[in-house]
Amino acid sequence: MLKSCGRKLLLFLVGCMFTCLLVLMADQQKRQVEDLGGEGGRRALQSLASPGEPEGLPRQPQLQEDEPGLAPREVKSFTDYFSKLSRGRREAQDAGSLAPRREGTPRPALEDITAQDVFIAVKTTKKFHKARLELLLDTWISRNRDLTFIFTDGEDEELKKRTANVINTNCSAAHSRQALSCKMAVEYDKFIESGRKWFCHVDDDNYVNVRTLVKLLSGYPHTQDIYIGKPSLDRPIQATERISENKMHPVHFWFATGGAGFCISRGLALKMSPWASGGHFMSTAEKIRLPDDCTIGYIIESVLGVKLIRSNLFHSHLENLHQVPKTEIHKQVTLSYGMFENKRNSIHMKGAFSADEDPSRFRSIHCLLYPDTPWCPLNVVY
Ligand code: UDP
Ligand code: MN
Repeated sequence: MLKSCGRKLLLFLVGCMFTCLLVLMADQQKRQVEDLGGEGGRRALQSLASPGEPEGLPRQPQLQEDEPGLAPREVKSFTDYFSKLSRGRREAQDAGSLAPRREGTPRPALEDITAQDVFIAVKTTKKFHKARLELLLDTWISRNRDLTFIFTDGEDEELKKRTANVINTNCSAAHSRQALSCKMAVEYDKFIESGRKWFCHVDDDNYVNVRTLVKLLSGYPHTQDIYIGKPSLDRPIQATERISENKMHPVHFWFATGGAGFCISRGLALKMSPWASGGHFMSTAEKIRLPDDCTIGYIIESVLGVKLIRSNLFHSHLENLHQVPKTEIHKQVTLSYGMFENKRNSIHMKGAFSADEDPSRFRSIHCLLYPDTPWCPLNVVY
């Protein structure tokens, strides 16, 4: 009697396990089909137009595969439970390997932060005050003046009249590694001084959707170690760190490209201090002889051992911006514009203004996000 009960129980357990396996396999297959058919199957072609830095390492042309968004979903069914498990495993694998963790869409809010908790540093140079910065001041900065800080290299009374937070770094106006690191060092110090919860860096050819940025950051604890952005390379960067006068050491790490923007939590920024505050950022950059955004990645990944969280919501002009779907524009955190094989690389959309009137598409994007802006035409078809 007991023996037959035991056998029945065993058969029942084997049956259960088999059913679970079938459910899991069916779900995996469904996910693969979704991945191929959906946005996730996209390939983001990196620009060939950008000359890159002297070392030719960052901002190089690369092919990069976009991963499907890992939308946070509630566990509603058995199948969902398994899909969550397999997703968790994938993230765990990512975290364990060299690949950065991937995040597609913002997580549910964890912290109740507002735009005032964010410090956005915009890097610019005097020759771009008119050519680039005015467009940003007319569009996204106009709605976010008190959280946006402009880091430049020359005095400009006109600019100061338009916005209060202009910081003359007194760094050289060159596009050299040292000049760019000099600006990043000042950005870092000013952020620490500000006492805000999040540091975000962008270039002067970025549009920032502050609403989605705040939503994204609210999914993470600002007191923990968070570094979020998008790499421009499809592999970790290889570099050598100078240990002493004649001793070098190979290192490899991921970094978020400065041209797409990236964010760092206050908790992590404070830990970076010995390598980033005061004059230390410049000497760290010299130690690995790489530009500012790589130096940030080096301090975070290589020195502190914290992994980059990769987000597909950040965009530089090193990727094909035509591939951002029209219906997804409002969900992105940063956008950009530039050249791609001698052609314009910008967000592809109809909108309030023609491509000739608005080559960057930033004015049209701004009207899409804030249709109540006085200069936005009424009844626009997108
Ligand atoms: N930049 C700078 N000094 C320069 C040239 C550029 O600070 O002499 C800044 C520029 O304002 C922008 C960033 O560096 O924020 C990247 O410049 P750009 O977009 O021209 O080049 P990319 O590296 O994106 O090709
Ligand atoms: Mn650029």
